[in-house]
Amino acid sequence: MRSHLIKADMTEVYPSAVYGHGVFIYDAQGKRYLDGSSGAVTASIGHAVPEIIDVMTEQAKKISFVYRSQFTSDPAEKLADKLNELASGRENDYFSFFVNSGSEATETALKIAIQHWQEKGDYRKNKVISRWSSYHGITMGALSMSGHIGRRERFVPLLESFPTIASPNCYRCPFHQKYPSCQLMCANELETAIRREGPEHIAAFIAEPIVGAAGAVIVPPDGYYQRVKEICDAYDILFIADEVMTGIGRTGKMFAMEHWGVEPDIIALGKGMSAGYTPMAATLVSKKVIEPILNGSASVMSGHTYSANPQSAAVALAVIDYIEKHDLINMAEVNGDYLIHRLKDVAHRQPLIGEVRGKGLMIGVEFVSNFLTQLPFHKDVSLTNKLVRKARDKGLLIYPAAAGIEGGDGDAVIIAPPLTIRKQEMDLLVDLFEETIKEIQRDLHV
Ligand code: PLP
Repeated sequence: MRSHLIKADMTEVYPSAVYGHGVFIYDAQGKRYLDGSSGAVTASIGHAVPEIIDVMTEQAKKISFVYRSQFTSDPAEKLADKLNELASGRENDYFSFFVNSGSEATETALKIAIQHWQEKGDYRKNKVISRWSSYHGITMGALSMSGHIGRRERFVPLLESFPTIASPNCYRCPFHQKYPSCQLMCANELETAIRREGPEHIAAFIAEPIVGAAGAVIVPPDGYYQRVKEICDAYDILFIADEVMTGIGRTGKMFAMEHWGVEPDIIALGKGMSAGYTPMAATLVSKKVIEPILNGSASVMSGHTYSANPQSAAVALAVIDYIEKHDLINMAEVNGDYLIHRLKDVAHRQPLIGEVRGKGLMIGVEFVSNFLTQLPFHKDVSLTNKLVRKARDKGLLIYPAAAGIEGGDGDAVIIAPPLTIRKQEMDLLVDLFEETIKEIQRDLHV
């Protein structure tokens, strides 16, 4: 009988997941899959962790839902305090607005940025500059800020035409330069864009610290974010860091922006925050940004029925506690170094791989038809889909991503296993990945 569930791809026959354990997922036939991407870079502490299940059960016995206009709750209050403790730095204290998905977190960031300026009496600052090759979510505001052709194309007439600048992609430099002699043209482009639009119209600049779905892990060169923040401050523009994919330990720091010592005005979190156990996301707002709102209308003009859900807040607290107790941020760095090193070895043997790049356990692999010219495969080859399917058949899950080439061409995947992955599991991941590439290469006759 035909299923009534609308799946990601209705032409695909998906295995049915029955249970998970650690870095593995098992389907209804008992087949085992190594979760090499934590789903969509989400299940960062692995599956069915008993400590999290205990907390879920205990909280469910107390209360699972309250409406934020009627009650606060202990888990939500504690989670906001914890996130402030983790994120606050030299200059900032952060206040949390809880939502349910990364898209809602960036959408809320957009609205809070605009509201911030309105409360200060400035109604003209209502555009956000973002980068081409970026993904900030699927809701209309988040999509308007996203440079991801595939996800935007059907809705372009309905989206805001916000200004964009290029991403800091050193493998395919948009300015055809080499670092450091480029003198960070990619960061300086922000200043050009601000001047072109007029700073009086720009509320904020948004960026993923490391580009995920739209670029398969584009790590910027050193100095990039320091320069970006300098420009934002000089023109009175808020800096929003979209840490939905990078946040909560994934890159070897609690927040990826710590790699560059930059404190954003607003931070969006999701995915790894509750490690997939319940839907949970947050918009962290610095004191400087929230104060005019608190002193003005005293209410952020946003909110969802499930905002600050106590069940999800309890889970997120337990996940952060687990990450700290098991030193998983350090493990992300150590394991990431090992995995990237092993994948670079594979790249030396497999000319299909153009580049392996990453930070911590967020690793991107970009594929090319010609290693020297870096030419991507033609779209019709559909290489990424072939790779992801073949890997899944072999029992390895990897995440399909765009390669970060303007125009949407190119093939790439993200490898981002749970931070708890062990050495022999990483070795298995690499073996399955190389086998997959070899077979694809054979099928393509290249
Ligand atoms: N921001 C970033 C950086 C993401 O990677 C994603 C999802 O991939 C989102 C926002 C949207 O999050 P969600 O899919 O939870 O709405």
